[in-house]
Amino acid sequence: MFPSDPDVLIVGAGCAGIAAARELAMRGRTCIVLEGGPRVGGRAFAESASLGLPFDHGASWLHQAGENPLTPLARALGLDLLDHDALRDRRLFAHGRMATAAERQAFAAAEDAFWMAVETAARDGGTDRPAASAAPRGGPWDATVAHWEGSQICAAELARMSLHDFAATALDGPNLILRYGVGGLVARLAEGLPIRLGARVDRLRWGPRGVVAQGTFGAVAARAAIVTASTGVLAAGGIAFDPPLPGPTAAAIHALPLGLLTKVAFRADHPDAPGLPPFASLRRAVAGDGDRPMSWISRLFGDPLMVAFCGGARAWEMAGDAALAEAEARAEAALVFGSRAAAALGRATVTRWAEDPLFRGAYSHAVPGAQGARRVLAAPLADGRLHFAGEACHPRFAATVAGAWLSGVEAARGVP
Ligand SMILES: Cc1cc2nc3c(=O)[nH]c(=O)nc-3n(C[C@H](O)[C@H](O)[C@H](O)COP(=O)(O)OP(=O)(O)OC[C@H]3O[C@@H](n4cnc5c(N)ncnc54)[C@H](O)[C@@H]3O)c2cc1C
Repeated sequence: MFPSDPDVLIVGAGCAGIAAARELAMRGRTCIVLEGGPRVGGRAFAESASLGLPFDHGASWLHQAGENPLTPLARALGLDLLDHDALRDRRLFAHGRMATAAERQAFAAAEDAFWMAVETAARDGGTDRPAASAAPRGGPWDATVAHWEGSQICAAELARMSLHDFAATALDGPNLILRYGVGGLVARLAEGLPIRLGARVDRLRWGPRGVVAQGTFGAVAARAAIVTASTGVLAAGGIAFDPPLPGPTAAAIHALPLGLLTKVAFRADHPDAPGLPPFASLRRAVAGDGDRPMSWISRLFGDPLMVAFCGGARAWEMAGDAALAEAEARAEAALVFGSRAAAALGRATVTRWAEDPLFRGAYSHAVPGAQGARRVLAAPLADGRLHFAGEACHPRFAATVAGAWLSGVEAARGVP
């Protein structure tokens, strides 16, 4: 199954690695994918074992579905795609109760004002600065909008992010969901590819004459390499490059750190469990300085599952302590659904993206001043013998499966 003398070796069998391998196969090139973990999909991973129902630990929406390369691939596999936005009942909790229609309208207006301000500031050009500096302040909903757009969506606070990169990578709908998750889709797309699991690359020798990957699996040589490990892994020195990477590439890796988004999924079979309808979402308004609310998605596909989302600094504070994350999600549930409903939530599973040395976080953002870093990281080295690919490399669809996929295809096309 594995070619003995591959044209290309790919490090990582997430979306970018799978896309690269498929593209190379289409072009008649041979490759081997070396995946350090025991499964394919990387940060697109769904499983049913822990709660008895499909649960996407990582990506769960195909954002901006009209331009998402995974939308037609899912359709070609005959998978059902549901437009979550069309089904979603969006609720807001504020002042200790569900928000009124007028409050929801005011919140929506504050969101529009936020995007107007960010887009205007980004269009004005000028030197890069933190995205937070462009956000409206002082209005009754501004802190909630900033928390939602920063920590909860981008997995990092707006103060930590480049304004220009934030504006350039902002996404729209439709947001599609799949019965067996985005993880289920990506696993299907990996079928039949030459992927070697449990093959963690510790060292990569690279140069104009070719590459050699080394690890406990031994050594694999090829004419070129596509490295798709996350910027969290790369920044932590998870792969030793020989010779060391050039300064601009190394700086780009460090300028694109991973934020963290932790999900806590609960079984919600009990009649007293929170009564949010299927496909609903609930956000809680920021109640004051230091308040960092979680948000909820309820009963996708009618399944008795409630998922709490916690992003940014609060998620990092809980990293490595699943019991704490579960306790905090239960406390959050008591706040928004009442203590009786919270007590009726069943067993839980907590995602562990931060502590896994093959990921070290959720997805990337550019730090202020680093709006060009994604293009620098994606630039081929050694006459095209070494490419980086993955979500962090895409200047438009960064932080998503779409960006990872497109950058994998791009890297494969750039191999000489
Ligand atoms: C909680 C969460 C929610 C998300 N929600 C969404 C969403 O709704 N929609 C969306 O589009 N995106 C979402 N994302 C982002 C999306 O999952 C990622 O952008 C995408 O999956 C990244 O793919 P990748 O190929 O770039 O990297 P990865 O998926 O990280 O793939 C890299 C692979 O490399 C392997 N690896 C690492 N180091 C080594 C090594 N030394 N040797 C060999 N293999 C190695 C890893 O095991 C991994 O399989 C979410 C992510 C998270 C974590």
